[in-house]
Amino acid sequence: MNPLIDKLKAVKASGKPVIGCFPLYPPLELLQALDLEPVVLWGLKPFYPRTPKSDQHLQNFVCSVGRHLAEFVLSEASDLVDGLFMYNACDTLRNLPEILQSGLEDAGRAKPIFNIHVPQAPRRQTDAAGYLADEIQNLIETLGRHFGVEFSPSRFRATAEQQNRARTLARELDAETASGRMSFRRLADLMYGNCFRPLDRQIQVMEAALETCRTAEPRTGPGVLLSGIMPPPSSVSSVIEEAGLRVAGNDIASLARSYAHSPDPALPPADYYVDLYYNHFPCSTLLGTADERPAALEALAEERGARGIIFLGEKFCEYEYFEFPHLEKRFKERGLHTLNLEFAIDDDQNPGPVRTRIEAFAELMS
Ligand code: SF4
Repeated sequence: MNPLIDKLKAVKASGKPVIGCFPLYPPLELLQALDLEPVVLWGLKPFYPRTPKSDQHLQNFVCSVGRHLAEFVLSEASDLVDGLFMYNACDTLRNLPEILQSGLEDAGRAKPIFNIHVPQAPRRQTDAAGYLADEIQNLIETLGRHFGVEFSPSRFRATAEQQNRARTLARELDAETASGRMSFRRLADLMYGNCFRPLDRQIQVMEAALETCRTAEPRTGPGVLLSGIMPPPSSVSSVIEEAGLRVAGNDIASLARSYAHSPDPALPPADYYVDLYYNHFPCSTLLGTADERPAALEALAEERGARGIIFLGEKFCEYEYFEFPHLEKRFKERGLHTLNLEFAIDDDQNPGPVRTRIEAFAELMS
């Protein structure tokens, strides 16, 4: 049996309807305030070494994120999920809800899919905050009707405070990684494990990890930033650290970009999500923020004293690949070392092909 099924059964033990969410930054607080249990569908790769069901619906030049997501939704494991939530992000995900819905209908396993549209124009160009606020209000009403729950502002504030606590803890763990007291591999494994834990359990796990950092011996070595949509496979994270590099920071979409900014929990939902999406740490999947990315990354490198950056390309993710050449040029102009790595759907736990390149890069940096 797929071990993911056990993880989802544990999430379902709360008795609340489980909502599988994609892509990266769903309105978690809102779903929790409506007594739903959101699960962000990341880190599915270890559970799906092959993607036969997805391959019947998606081309093989789709990124591994989209293919693993489709494999999960079209497989029996998703029967443990009571609904799906998604917003627009990249072209890969644009029509995915319709594709998945028709695949589920064909299999006689249709489930509700809830959507919002997040405006992607920079706010200074076209301020669509009012539109986004309407989308959030519609989502509250749709979910409320579907699941028979009433929205409560005080409950929203409570879940926003809990999410704020979780993001704060994640930033503290990130800082411990930068200081060398926690390995990057452990940080990434912990955060990915949290995708399948209820929020209160996520907080406990992060608090316990912080406790162990306090007494850990800090690792030294030149600081490097990691940048990309996904962290590298765990085995590659180990190679990076065994080569003597210290991960001083990251702007990985499923890590720091997700926890870097947390809106004020006292805000009502519409204002809260206008803040979350418009003031998000720059991300290639939130096009309105993308112009800010070079400056944000440079500031991170400066603040953390990084001497280099490793770009982690997700094969077929053109959103990231469009930005890498420009970012690389900017970093080189500042005298920082850069390394480009690429990971495809079948680059799993064997770090052999990239080991020599990482070791050579580490030598250059030291
Ligand atoms: S990895 Fe890139 S192409 Fe794939 S879903 Fe994410 S943003 Fe889209």
